[in-house]
Amino acid sequence: MKAMINNIDNIIKHINESNDFIVTSHISPDGDNVGSTLAMYYCLKKLNKNVYYVLDDNTPLNLKFLVKGVEILRSNELKINDYSLISLDCGDKSRICVSDEIINNSNKLICIDHHASNNYYGDLNYIDSEASSTCELVYNLLVRFYQVSNLNLIDEKVATALYTGLVTDTGNFSYSSTHPSSFEMAKELLILGAKRDTIIQNVFQSNPFNFYKLLGDALNTLDIVESKIASIMLTKEMLKKYSISFNDVDAITSYTRDIQGVEVGILLKEKKENEVKVSLRSKNYVDVSEIAKTFNGGGHVRAAGCTIYDSIENAKKLVLQEVLKTI
Ligand code: 5GP
Ligand code: MN
Repeated sequence: MKAMINNIDNIIKHINESNDFIVTSHISPDGDNVGSTLAMYYCLKKLNKNVYYVLDDNTPLNLKFLVKGVEILRSNELKINDYSLISLDCGDKSRICVSDEIINNSNKLICIDHHASNNYYGDLNYIDSEASSTCELVYNLLVRFYQVSNLNLIDEKVATALYTGLVTDTGNFSYSSTHPSSFEMAKELLILGAKRDTIIQNVFQSNPFNFYKLLGDALNTLDIVESKIASIMLTKEMLKKYSISFNDVDAITSYTRDIQGVEVGILLKEKKENEVKVSLRSKNYVDVSEIAKTFNGGGHVRAAGCTIYDSIENAKKLVLQEVLKTI
């Protein structure tokens, strides 16, 4: 068992002393995933390192503006042998979204993350479950980097990437994970050139028309149990009908949680037959990461997820059973 210690200075030292890096994150990319990985990618490039951004999943439509012009490789396109792997925003080693070969062949696995369930799976770790986002941890690392080397790596692009993860993981500064440090970071990033309007318009105000048609159908499946648990089901047929991708429906999750009196919101998304991705959200007191863990998932106290290998109807029943124990 590895010691659960943070090695922020050793991570900086390792970055300074090495040349070849792969940066990656978890499956089903979100704003913090893309923001933190991209910020790290740009910074390593600025330091003249040889760096590859690898992720075996599709960038959601509302985050494409951020990675425009950036080459994101699939595992099978990569052709280097000697590298350090930096895993960002990924609480669980099995969720790192590159091939096992890339994980196992890395010289050093560096993990930067804010999931409480993270078991310090890296050789070097910087984990803080109190942090609003992994972007906040990357920001802290870059501030520390500046303190020790007098080099400011945060330019407009890095600031924009970091601001995106901060905004998405805090629900636009509304969740309880938003601390005074998050606002301080936001202030500094805005001073350093973060494109706030571009971020807000792309992330929150660019849903395709068909998204709303799908939302209409999705809301027809809305079900409330004991006035405290709300769920929505999205079948693969519904996604197909409106040509909306699996990774582009995250915004629907909050409709379940945001109902008056509801404590736990559940979105069930059918990926394929007998494979259902479950998103769990809570408002006040239920620790949804514990519920997710019962299905081998994980996440945060107020936002967690898991995959259930069963029909969507059975998945709903199974999750409801667990949620009811917590209400
Ligand atoms: P979402 O519901 O938006 O997919 O995920 C909410 C949070 O839970 C995110 O921090 C995400 O990384 C985490 N999460 C989602 N699904 C899983 C899972 O299957 N396993 C683990 N360990 N974490 C998950
Ligand atoms: Mn995150």
